[in-house]
Amino acid sequence: MPDPRHTKERLVTDILEPAVVPVLDDASPLARLFAMVGDAYTEAEQRDDAEVAAAHHVYNAYGATLGLVLGGEDWAGQISVKDNRLEASAVAWLEGGLWLHHALAISEDDGARDVLTLIAPCACGSGYFDIQLENEEDLLEILTGLRRTGGRVPHPYDDDCGSVLDPHAPTQK
Ligand SMILES: [Zn+2]
Repeated sequence: MPDPRHTKERLVTDILEPAVVPVLDDASPLARLFAMVGDAYTEAEQRDDAEVAAAHHVYNAYGATLGLVLGGEDWAGQISVKDNRLEASAVAWLEGGLWLHHALAISEDDGARDVLTLIAPCACGSGYFDIQLENEEDLLEILTGLRRTGGRVPHPYDDDCGSVLDPHAPTQK
């Protein structure tokens, strides 16, 4: 005849131990798996937010140009860790070495401000230029010039184009 208290103790242990103990233990496999999922989700969320912010800005401020040729799926969100800058950004490939880069610049005075930059290769092939776009008229003017030069910025005579390589510019697609 088994001792009733012993039976009860064993039942409680069998039921509760697998479910409770791993969660309470920070070093357990489950706790470590939860930590991995949490980090991955945060990064995915930042990328999603960056893509939505870029598509939203282009749709609103460049509706007659960029908004017609770029959809939300054309933006690739990325997390910036350079110089401890935490804001995410998004890039959209246009052609060859031409990209758009969008980020929200956060400042105490202005709050969040959209910063849209066109990244275009130098004609010499060794560098890129960052051209910050102010508005759609500004973009049209820049596009007119780039169309004449085949999408490349003429190499400046008095400057080194390689020194302005954008750290965000993807090198391939
Ligand atoms: Zn150059």
